[in-house]
Amino acid sequence: MKLGVFGGTFNPIHYGHLRVAEEVKEKLGLNKIIFVPSGNPPLKDTELADAKHRYRMVRLAASKNHSFAVSDIEYKKKDKSYSVDTLERLHRIYPGARFYFIAGIDAFIDIPNWWQPERLVSLADFIVVSRPAFKFVSLASSPYLKINKNILKNLDDAKLQNYKTKLKSGRDIIMMYIMPVEISATGIRKLIKRRKSIKYLLPEEVESYIITHKIYRS
Ligand code: ATP
Repeated sequence: MKLGVFGGTFNPIHYGHLRVAEEVKEKLGLNKIIFVPSGNPPLKDTELADAKHRYRMVRLAASKNHSFAVSDIEYKKKDKSYSVDTLERLHRIYPGARFYFIAGIDAFIDIPNWWQPERLVSLADFIVVSRPAFKFVSLASSPYLKINKNILKNLDDAKLQNYKTKLKSGRDIIMMYIMPVEISATGIRKLIKRRKSIKYLLPEEVESYIITHKIYRS
């Protein structure tokens, strides 16, 4: 079984995230994409909605796609959750499955700042997807990857749609061009604060949930 693992704050989930999941699933023929919304950090972040709300919004967004599942592993944890622990738990839940950890370019570049990054890059194959305003060429400085800059430039120019190589850990990394969807959770939160419409940026069910629960308004 081939499973995609898509972690994030999803604050809130939007069509940019959903397109990533759909395209990765289709292009790699994955059986399922498991969304893993992060839990509440130990220090309260005023911009971050409560984990319970973010988890429920991801459930609403994923409910119409049979290939999408949502994990409560991180949201239910009392203390801080780390991607390494999440992947190890998923390995126990789905023995024998092959995991593909999905990350935008910005997220992959940030991995050296995560908990036990060397272990993380050895626990799954990685799918690094394009994201508007971020360039594959920035991966040239990644400590986990040795790659020719021209390949990265070709991905940025959409001359190359996919490129598969090995991470230094021995795991696969697939860099994938995704049809650009220039939506960000930060942009959505800004619109809500200014009492502007967020229609057509995220699923209707998520929009209604945000309105009903008055999230992101202050
Ligand atoms: P914020 O705007 O609040 O910083 P974010 O979208 O950057 O939110 P997450 O919700 O944690 O942060 O993102 C989860 C993952 O989705 C990350 O790997 C990120 O790179 C990716 N991602 C988010 N939006 C897009 C998009 N529009 N296109 C491609 N990838 C995206």
